[in-house]
Amino acid sequence: MSTTNRFEVTFWGVRGGYPVPGPGTVRYGGNTTCLEVRAGDHLIIIDSGTGIVPLGRKLSDAMAENDDRLNILLLITHTHHDHIQGFPFFAPAYSAGTTLNIFGPKLFPSDLEEVLRRSMMSPRFPVSLDELPCNRRIGIIRDRDMIILTEPDAVPQVINVLREEPSLPGDTVRITALRSLTSHPDGITFYRVEYQGRAMVFASDTEGYIGGNQQLIRFAKGAHLLIHDAELTEEEYMSRQGWGHSTWQMACDVGRQAGVERLALTHHNAMHDDDDLDAIAEAADAAMPGVFLAHEGRPSTCATISPIPSPSRILSHATPGGARRPVLCLQARGLARPSKAGCYFQRTPQMDEIDV
Ligand SMILES: [Zn+2]
Ligand SMILES: [Zn+2]
Repeated sequence: MSTTNRFEVTFWGVRGGYPVPGPGTVRYGGNTTCLEVRAGDHLIIIDSGTGIVPLGRKLSDAMAENDDRLNILLLITHTHHDHIQGFPFFAPAYSAGTTLNIFGPKLFPSDLEEVLRRSMMSPRFPVSLDELPCNRRIGIIRDRDMIILTEPDAVPQVINVLREEPSLPGDTVRITALRSLTSHPDGITFYRVEYQGRAMVFASDTEGYIGGNQQLIRFAKGAHLLIHDAELTEEEYMSRQGWGHSTWQMACDVGRQAGVERLALTHHNAMHDDDDLDAIAEAADAAMPGVFLAHEGRPSTCATISPIPSPSRILSHATPGGARRPVLCLQARGLARPSKAGCYFQRTPQMDEIDV
């Protein structure tokens, strides 16, 4: 049983391709893909682009301060550089107090463990995967596999929802995988994380179809948050068809058809600076109010999305025992105003200072 019912997402890396540190990317961030998801007492990390490096530092510091142990589920969408290049520098992997459960797709002909091992092999890196002192399990995740997290220290269970129908207690975290071999070179795995009746879907590195990717739309149906690839403008897309990335219009199309509550655009083009992203954010917001661009967040510079505490909302989230269900909080940068979905951003003073 978790000691908290929070469901939070923090972006630690929002770039596609390669890291782009520098004065032109300070507001949205320059690290490649990495998300921290907190569901109850569970810590889930999605992808290990360079964003996992500062996340790892934060986790290691907290671990040292509290003399604690860490149990992490690391989900890999695919093994292109921008989704694994930070892994060798992930500080908690160098601690015997860390248990690292890693799941990702089998990439023909190599499995995930082999790809990670090769990425750390001499002469590319001085420490091999086998030398890492953390407790480590690496597993393959297949289409419609579901990872089940019960107690925070328990080993994740994997079942396939096409063969089994799980009956699980409400406190369980369920993560379902959808494989797509056609919407991105080498294939991609989408993840849907569900916790206490709320859902978050991560769909990066995917190219849209005319009429929308119906498989993904069904997968994301009713999610409270969809995080979708939006690397390209329509103009750029004309010369990059088949590269496996979407325009923000494609992402909005999926979000609308799936009926998601919130849509975040990510995998920002490494060629786009903060001003370019501001322009995309403005255009996307005009087309679909409430949509926002993912923004590298640190606790002091993040905004929080939380539901407006209206009576109807409280009623709809009340449990038989009278306690409120958890809400999905999203660490992200945004505007302090209500959205159509009934959510609002709370600016922190630090962020206001940075925005000036
Ligand atoms: Zn990518
Ligand atoms: Zn990719």
